Amino acid sequence: MERMPRYALAILNQPSAEAAPHLQGAAAFAFADPAEPHLSVLDLGATRGDGIFESISVGDGRAQALEHHLRRFAGSAAKLDLPAPDLDAWRAAILAVIDALDPVEESWVKAVLTRGIEGDGRPTGWVYASHSADNTAPRTTGVRVVMLDRGFRHDVELTSPWLLAGAKTLSYAVNRAAIREAHRRDADDVIFVSSDGFVLEGPTSSVVFRRGDTVYTPGTGLGILEGTTQANVFRYAESLGLATGFELLRPAELQQADAAWLVSSVRLAAPVRELDGVPFSVDHEFTAGLNAHLLALRD
Ligand code: PLP
Repeated sequence: MERMPRYALAILNQPSAEAAPHLQGAAAFAFADPAEPHLSVLDLGATRGDGIFESISVGDGRAQALEHHLRRFAGSAAKLDLPAPDLDAWRAAILAVIDALDPVEESWVKAVLTRGIEGDGRPTGWVYASHSADNTAPRTTGVRVVMLDRGFRHDVELTSPWLLAGAKTLSYAVNRAAIREAHRRDADDVIFVSSDGFVLEGPTSSVVFRRGDTVYTPGTGLGILEGTTQANVFRYAESLGLATGFELLRPAELQQADAAWLVSSVRLAAPVRELDGVPFSVDHEFTAGLNAHLLALRD
């Protein structure tokens, strides 16, 4: 491997203390060459999308919202009845791959936990770090968004927990398909709407909107991810003296908002500049301040 590379990979020896290690007595994780194959063709993560992940922003070599991501990782594992991740081992591996990277302003880490090889009983885990792509355009110019029916009611998490709504599972083929549908409709991104007509989230982001002096997000318990970026957006808004709140709302009500953003790790805040073909006002000043704040986070 080159010195201080743009990519780094570490494979966990014992992703969960509830399952046996892959190699008795070995260190918690080992660096591996990301250009080489490491995953078995029998791994349930690959054959059934049976696993979970987290994508974490790294600013100037520091993981952002790391503890929040780790908590959500453990929550997703519980929703899938996966062995509980050993968060100390994961934290150490994440910090190590970040340290191994050439430090640039923006990188990201992806942590993946799968159910492992069928019948083996040992989960598979790895963390991969890479420099980030340039996200200036979505952060400044904004994104054109279409609203698409997700096909589940807003209370799916309560009525049908086996659908795993609200868990960050590896089964993102549907989310990718939704983005391709947006492209077919001459848009960049998507806001999912529940089958009973409530605004939910994007395929890779949370929805945040401002009305007057209050910044809102649709809420929790709606079969959507509890966003780490959304939580930091609220903290930023509160630091400016704005109020924050949760509001379950209809697409027509979102159209009436003063501004809206799709917010997520790595891309950060992308202002919505068009919603279902209708131009949407972008608050450039607030967006610039927000992205500067999110980029500078070092916790
Ligand atoms: N909702 C979904 C479906 C996502 O995939 C993501 C991020 O990947 C988010 C929301 C935003 O979460 P975070 O801000 O923690 O990255």
